[in-house]
Amino acid sequence: MKKVINNYKSITEAGIKKSEEQIRHFQYYDILTGLPNRFFFMEKLSEEVEGLKAKETIGAVLSVDLDDFKLINGILGHNYGDLLLRIVSQLLCLCTRNYGTVARHGGDEFLILIPNIENIEKVKLLCNNIMESFLDPFEVKDKQIYCSVSIGICLINNEYRDNNEILKNADTAMYHSKEKGKNKYSFFNTDMLQVMLRKKSIENALRDALAKQEFQLYYQPQVDVKTKKTKRLEALLRWNSSEIGSISPDEFIPIAEDTGLIFRIGEWVINSACKQLKSWREKGYKVDTISINISPVQIQDRYLLELVNKAIRENGLAQDDLEIEVTEGTLIKTIEKKSEILINLVNSGVKISIDDFGKGYSSLNYLTVLPISTLKIDKSFIDKIVESPSYYAIVECIIQLANKLNYVVIAEGVEQEEQYIILKELRCDLIQGYFFSKPLPQDEIEKMLMGE
Ligand code: C2E
Ligand code: MG
Ligand code: MG
Repeated sequence: MKKVINNYKSITEAGIKKSEEQIRHFQYYDILTGLPNRFFFMEKLSEEVEGLKAKETIGAVLSVDLDDFKLINGILGHNYGDLLLRIVSQLLCLCTRNYGTVARHGGDEFLILIPNIENIEKVKLLCNNIMESFLDPFEVKDKQIYCSVSIGICLINNEYRDNNEILKNADTAMYHSKEKGKNKYSFFNTDMLQVMLRKKSIENALRDALAKQEFQLYYQPQVDVKTKKTKRLEALLRWNSSEIGSISPDEFIPIAEDTGLIFRIGEWVINSACKQLKSWREKGYKVDTISINISPVQIQDRYLLELVNKAIRENGLAQDDLEIEVTEGTLIKTIEKKSEILINLVNSGVKISIDDFGKGYSSLNYLTVLPISTLKIDKSFIDKIVESPSYYAIVECIIQLANKLNYVVIAEGVEQEEQYIILKELRCDLIQGYFFSKPLPQDEIEKMLMGE
């Protein structure tokens, strides 16, 4: 009996020892990739920071994040995503073998600790090596996957006391790389922190902006080239925050998109613009159409059609009183994804306008897929139309294309009389820009309409 107990005891001790080792392993290593995890990394970082203090040298922490990994996971499934992460982790170890430690931070984010850098060139070389090693596609089972990385670097010296701050700064630099177009590396600097802090404060203020009634719609006339009379109006959102002051839509719309706040803000825009058109019609002003900008995020909203139809119905408007402005990029992506939402909107009779036409895309195939009503030539073309024969020729072609396809064609950002004269010559339909009018609040639009 005693023997049995002893055996039992000895097996248990060995077992416990093994379990302890396993627990320790799980505590410090990532199961999927086998790399050290965040805890391991933080401990190592603490040791190194202490070492730096003694040696007075410089080290670096790199935050490495895969670009568009969500898309890969979404399209190919998590099996492929997991396998890709394992291959990537091996590749990162290979690139970093003479430099320092690689760890998995979580998700598709990795950390690299370089304990001692003699000069910044060494870090740049490592980043370039990593980015170059991602140029060829990854062979994952039966698929070839193209993938790039965005890298943020925080240099560490003996002034840093807080490891979390080091990681946060490396992350901030990594997000900066993403914002600058991905597949890049950036060194952290305090300006980036300022940008992040401003973003955060805009995000916070944006959360209360609707409740505090801080939004307002301005309207910019789209003027008939021949008669110089306002035919349509584009609704443009204005935000005067009680905390931050006035902020441009170019700055706050992307933040509203990232945070999902765009859905409620967009709903407010649609309702307000429709209400305004109804009120102008009741007062006897002649406005054919109101156009509203819709962001790519809103195009994914299942309730968009319902929302638009409700606003049209409640304000006694016709479907084609409203035009939705979407950028070319959004339109192409929507068609590629075969998204029903935009198609249903078009089928419901709402007009679709291509905003910023010509900016960045060369494929024109999509023009044959959806019945589009209006094409807005991007300001960057109009800017150069007077002095550049090439730009003149491009604009001439776009207008001819639009005419042939029976689209209404609008020139955006017309600022000078010379531009207006050329566009009239080229038989552009409508003109929008400071030459005629800046975007104006409702009462000033009324004064302007009255004077026409
Ligand atoms: P967009 O739709 O291309 O609007 C035209 C922008 O150009 C407006 O800027 C307008 O004020 C400006 N603009 C018009 N004529 C001229 C000109 O002659 N010269 C110059 N320099 N600029 C001119 P804004 O109002 O700051 O809006 C910027 C962008 O923000 C818009 O570009 C649109 O993409 C977005 N946006 C504005 N309102 C909304 C909204 O309600 N919802 C969504 N999703 N996006 C909006
Ligand atoms: Mg627009
Ligand atoms: Mg535009």
